[in-house]
Amino acid sequence: MSDKNSEIKTLKSKLCYERKNGYKILDDNELKSCEEFSVGYKDYLNKAKTERENVSFVINEAKKCGFVPFDKNHKYSPGEKVYIVNREKMIALAVIGKNGVKNGANLSIAHIDAPRLDLKPNPVVESNDFAMFKTHYYGGIKKYQWTSIPLSLHGRIVKKDGTYIDVCIGEKEDEPCFCVTDLLPHLAKEQMNKKMSEAIKGEDLNVMIGSRPFKCDEGSELVKLNILKILNEKYNIVEEDFISSDLELVPAMKAQDIGFDRSMIGGYAHDDRSCAYPSFRAIFDCGIPEKTAIVVLTDKEETGSDGNTGMQCRFVEYLIYDFADLDGVKGRDVLGKSKCLSADVNAAYDPTYTNNYEIANSSFINRGVVVEKYTGSGGKYGTSEASAEFTGEIRKMLNDNNIIWQSGELGKVDTGGGGTIAKYIANLNVDVIDIGVPVLSMHAPFEVISKIDLYMTYKAIQTFLK
Ligand code: MN
Ligand code: MN
Repeated sequence: MSDKNSEIKTLKSKLCYERKNGYKILDDNELKSCEEFSVGYKDYLNKAKTERENVSFVINEAKKCGFVPFDKNHKYSPGEKVYIVNREKMIALAVIGKNGVKNGANLSIAHIDAPRLDLKPNPVVESNDFAMFKTHYYGGIKKYQWTSIPLSLHGRIVKKDGTYIDVCIGEKEDEPCFCVTDLLPHLAKEQMNKKMSEAIKGEDLNVMIGSRPFKCDEGSELVKLNILKILNEKYNIVEEDFISSDLELVPAMKAQDIGFDRSMIGGYAHDDRSCAYPSFRAIFDCGIPEKTAIVVLTDKEETGSDGNTGMQCRFVEYLIYDFADLDGVKGRDVLGKSKCLSADVNAAYDPTYTNNYEIANSSFINRGVVVEKYTGSGGKYGTSEASAEFTGEIRKMLNDNNIIWQSGELGKVDTGGGGTIAKYIANLNVDVIDIGVPVLSMHAPFEVISKIDLYMTYKAIQTFLK
């Protein structure tokens, strides 16, 4: 009888696909590496909350690792490190490979924009002795999640004379922060009976910025006037300057360990900074690669990758052309031979909402970096599907290097769906596949990931790039 049992066990481990929890496999040293990696990641999350802050954070870190601005006229040799910035909201880092781009390049692309509340162009209003910011939400949010949480204000204001000022207020303990109010339950009978998608409307996401009127008995909107006076004294701006600004309200919360066992990390914008951080750390640590290694951190993914800082603009294509010129080869040939990881998060299986997931094809916290052959929705609309060959190549790479990984799809077939930047890379005639970290509460102000998955994503990208 026990012989039969061990035979079944052997057969099972030989034939069946199993996604193992990393805590059951990793040794103490590897777990220590996961922990150490998460410390730097939390620091980055706290310091870089907008796409602009991400770009300047990455430039700083890259410089420390020897990266310099790209120069089209310089003759590069293997191992040289460069960066190229697009409008301070998108950045590419590259390490020149031993063969340059003659046999194509290896890319990892993640996005650094995240759901948030943007200020409207004319944001300051007053109502019943309250001054408020009118906002226009960015990306896919559940609006009710953005009420009654502390928000900080980040961004850039370009003044009348063309000079600008960068703003960051609400992150430090002694600074004021902001919030959207919500109705008390006692008076919310009507609101509570509404559909969740209608209970809080876009125009309800008004942000409290003041309640103290200007000391004067005459005139209207004296709270607003007082706020404008404070802003003028602090930043030397006037109301019209808001029109030429990029101002974003983001959760003021800090990234923090989750659970008594500290196995997880809670924080804002794991989507997609839990893939952006492993990407730039991986290229810092990739040595001198065979093929030129390129990491791109892009903006505008959450709104469809449109615009001149989104993945649909020609930035990456032209960059490849520039590298091709340096090696005396054709850009189109380089693109055709290039391979790319679209590093973006996946929806982790949530034990509270089991109905929305198909368990055999969901990704799980702690079971490693997720490989997603395709994204999209419905009948595979809006996706580039990675071929069996390219998926096989990535699978072999992960297995050969003992990287904990799992296959995952985004929820049940007909429950929704979503895309990534992968299809825009595929349009350039590049082989591309989605890989990334599984996330709980995706797009909420406070998302959750696992430390093991974060580190395994780093290991996967680093192995791919070198
Ligand atoms: Mn994403
Ligand atoms: Mn997203």
